[in-house]
Amino acid sequence: AFVSQIQQSTDRLQFLVEDLLDFARLEAGTFRLSPQDADLSHVVKQGISSLIPQANESQLTMVAEVPSNPIRLRMDAKRIEQVLFNLVGNAIKFTPAGGTIRVSLTPMDAEYMLSIQDSGLGISPENLPRLFEKFFQVDPSDTREHSGAGLGLAISKSIIEAHGGRIGVDSRLGEGSTFWFTLPSLTP
Ligand code: ADP
Repeated sequence: AFVSQIQQSTDRLQFLVEDLLDFARLEAGTFRLSPQDADLSHVVKQGISSLIPQANESQLTMVAEVPSNPIRLRMDAKRIEQVLFNLVGNAIKFTPAGGTIRVSLTPMDAEYMLSIQDSGLGISPENLPRLFEKFFQVDPSDTREHSGAGLGLAISKSIIEAHGGRIGVDSRLGEGSTFWFTLPSLTP
């Protein structure tokens, strides 16, 4: 039991250090993408399967709606996976046991949209416009139940915008949230 607690704490520290390094690179203007041809369906499916154990541990149901055909895009797959981990990780953190997280990948006109819908706490309208700011947290107290530095969404926004996409959220307090992002189907 102690070893598993130590493991969880070191994982949290590692995520924190990675977020801080990305943040420092963004501030210094040295954050770079490494775009390659990749299959978005595959990246999303693989990301979801590695998050299922975490969702199960929190007694959440994960539903995936991902097209079976390959979606070839030019993108930095590692960075898109990082955004997916951040958004689904948040959905897991902020949804009480028994809830559902639905991840859907939908083709639109000239872009693809990935949405992550949770049945969790939701976000009040006055906090919504500030969510993607650096260090913003709805509950910034030291006693908050969840880990994190409030950098994940700011970093995710930079990654998606660097790909020519958009990122946003729709939410109702007490009902849940849907975070979404788009990626253009043709490289600019
Ligand atoms: P962190 O998760 O490290 O606090 P983020 O930048 O990823 O930082 O998120 C910022 C804040 O946005 C969170 O602290 C939380 O208050 C709010 N938030 C993010 N995702 C959700 C969600 N799915 N449901 C409710 N609140 C959320």
